[in-house]
Amino acid sequence: MAEKIPGQRKKEQAPQLRSRNFEEVAFNYTPEQARLEASRCLQCPKPFCVAGCPVNVQIPQFIQQIRDGDFAAAYKTIRADNYLPAVCGRVCPQETQCEGRCVLGKKGEPVAIGNLERFAADTAMAAAGVPAAAAADMSALSETEVSAKPGGRKIAVVGSGPSGLTCAAELNAAGFKVTVYEALHEPGGVLAYGIPEFRLPKNIVRREIDALAAAGVRFETNTVIGRLFTVDELLREQGFAAVYIASGAGFPVFMGLPGEDLNGVYSANEYLTRVNLMKAYRPEAETPILRGQQVAVIGGGNVALDAARAARRLGADRVRLIYRRSRAEMPARQEEIHHAGEEGIEFLFLSNPVQYLGDSKGFVRAAVVQKMTLGEPDTSGRRRPAPLAGSEYELPVDVVIVAVGTQANPLIKDTTPELGTTDRGYIIVDDSGKTTKPGVYAGGDIASGAATVILAMGAGKRAARAIADFVGAA
Ligand code: FAD
Ligand code: SF4
Ligand code: SF4
Repeated sequence: MAEKIPGQRKKEQAPQLRSRNFEEVAFNYTPEQARLEASRCLQCPKPFCVAGCPVNVQIPQFIQQIRDGDFAAAYKTIRADNYLPAVCGRVCPQETQCEGRCVLGKKGEPVAIGNLERFAADTAMAAAGVPAAAAADMSALSETEVSAKPGGRKIAVVGSGPSGLTCAAELNAAGFKVTVYEALHEPGGVLAYGIPEFRLPKNIVRREIDALAAAGVRFETNTVIGRLFTVDELLREQGFAAVYIASGAGFPVFMGLPGEDLNGVYSANEYLTRVNLMKAYRPEAETPILRGQQVAVIGGGNVALDAARAARRLGADRVRLIYRRSRAEMPARQEEIHHAGEEGIEFLFLSNPVQYLGDSKGFVRAAVVQKMTLGEPDTSGRRRPAPLAGSEYELPVDVVIVAVGTQANPLIKDTTPELGTTDRGYIIVDDSGKTTKPGVYAGGDIASGAATVILAMGAGKRAARAIADFVGAA
C-alpha cells in the first residue's frame, strides 16, 4: 500500500525567475504533502536511514509524528540529536547520508527525509516565532550530568560556524558560561558567509543565533583569536577553563596558474562573502564586486555551484562551470547540480584552466582551458584526470571564481605552540575532540578538513561532552 503513494515534490520558483533573484529556490511542503510523504515510510524495525545520519536522528520516530500530525513533537525528536534541523533539512547531502540508506531507495524513491526535517523545523519556527527555547530542549548531556557541574565555569568557543554553535549550545544548556569569539562581523560561519540566501535564508541562521544569545551565550564578533587574544591568553588570563576551536577551513586555495593575480579573478570564499555577508546582491549595497557577463567558475563541489548560481543571479549572461572530471564524479549535492542546470549554468566537464590572460588594464579577459581525460582511479577512488596535449583553447571571460578547495588558516596553529597539527595544518584530535594541549578541544572543518555541516555539528556535540567532563573533573 505505502509504496503506491508517489514521492511528494516541493514547489519551486521557476528557473527563469529564480535565476535572477536571491530568494529561496524551494518552498516548504504543505502539511498535507508532509503527511503524505511521511506515510511512505515503512517504519523499518532496523532503520538503515538512522545509521546513515552522522548524528543518528531518530528518523522513523519523527516521521511517524509528522504522519500523526504532531509536528511539534517531530521537531523535538529531531532536536534531541540535531541542533539545526532547519539548516540540515536544506543542506545535508541526504543522497549519501540518510536517504542514501533508505530501503525504499533500492527499488524506487527514498523517503524525502531532508524535506520532512525542514518541514518540521520551519513549522515549529513559524509557530514559536523563534526556535523553540533554543538550548533548553536539546542538550545531550543528561540531567544528572548537568546538575553535577559547577555552574558558571567559563568556556571559550573560537568560531561561530555549525560546530562552534552546537558546542556552545550544548555547554550553555549544561550550565556553563560560554563566550563565542568570531572573526567576522556576523556569526554563523559558512552558514552566514558561504551558503547563499537562495539555498539557506539567513534569517534561519540569525534566529538560531539570537535564540542562543537569549539563552545566555555571549557572542564577541570582530574578534580574531590569535590576534586579539591567543588561546593561551584565553586560558591563563581571561579565566576560561577550556577552549573549543571551531575555526573552520576557510582559507582559500588557488591553483598557482599564470594570471591568477589579474583583476576579476576571485577565490570563491571572497566572492561569496561579498555576496552574502556584505549583501552585494542588494541594489543599494555599496560592496564592490565585479558583475561579470561571462563568468567561469573552477571546481565541481557545492562551493563552485553556489558561486556559479550567485554569479548568474548577479546578472551574468553566461556562467560556465569548469570541472576536470565528469559529472559522475562531482562532489556537489545532486539537487544543486540539477537546479544549476535548470538555471542555465553550463558545465564544461573534463576541462581545466591552465592560464588566465589579461587586457591592457590588468583585468582578466580569457581563460586558457585544456581538455582532460579520465584514467585509473586514484586514492580517493575517483578516476584520475589527465590532460590531453594540444587541446588548449581560449575561453572569453570577465570574471573567474576559483573554487578548488580551501585549507586551514594557520593563525591559531602559529600562535598556539603546543597544539599538534597535521602536515596540512589541521588540528589533531582524538574521537572526543581533545587536542594535544590540555584544556583545548577542536572539531569541525579545522580538524577534519573541509567536510559537511552535520559532521561539524556532530564534532561540536562530542567535544561539549568531553569539555563538560574535563571541566567537571578539573
Ligand atoms: P565554519 O562554518 O567554517 O565556521 C568557522 C568560523 O570560525 C567562521 O565564522 C570563521 O570566521 C571563524 N574563525 C576562523 N578563524 C577564527 C579566529 N582565529 N578567531 C575567531 N574566529 C575565527 N556542507 C553541507 O553539509 N552541505 C552543503 O550544501 C554545503 N555547502 C557549502 C557551500 C559553501 C560555499 C561552503 C564554503 C561550504 C559548504 N559546506 C556544505 C561545508 C560546510 O559549510 C562546512 O563543512 C561547515 O560549515 C564547517 O563548519 P565549522 O563550524 O567547522 O566551520
Ligand atoms: Fe539526514 Fe542530515 Fe537530518 Fe541526518 S541531519 S537525518 S543526514 S538531513
Ligand atoms: Fe522509513 Fe526509509 Fe528509514 Fe525505512 S529506511 S524507516 S522506509 S525512512
